[in-house]
Amino acid sequence: MPGIDGLGLCRMIRERGGDYVYFILISSNRVTKENRQLALESGVDDFLTKPVDADELGMRLHVAERILGLSAQVKQLETFIPICGYCKKIRNDRKYWQEIETFFSQHQGTKFSHGVCPDCYERELVPQLEKLGIDPAAARGGES
Ligand SMILES: [Zn+2]
Repeated sequence: MPGIDGLGLCRMIRERGGDYVYFILISSNRVTKENRQLALESGVDDFLTKPVDADELGMRLHVAERILGLSAQVKQLETFIPICGYCKKIRNDRKYWQEIETFFSQHQGTKFSHGVCPDCYERELVPQLEKLGIDPAAARGGES
């Protein structure tokens, strides 16, 4: 690419974010330890030396595919967040339930999975359980 080298391109793509791009740097065997370190810091994932062996490249691509699959899985999990079905409070990644406005001032691009926060559990579910003659402590499954 004119005006930009491989590491520059790598840094640019890392800074841009979005879907993970897996980089394998193919270089001559004269590359120094310092240059490899610089490449690593620029976001390179793996290294191969010229001449490239097709089997070796195939194996590295297989690993890359596995890592990209896991990366996509993590990203999907990150986009599902627990929301209380009653008051719509959201449980953040530190396990605190917070108001929806507060949560969205800190996060973007998320979807919901439903649950019940402790306040609503006490206010909404405990009376219903008691009405049904079920001990709320037992229904909670021993969770304190
Ligand atoms: Zn709630």
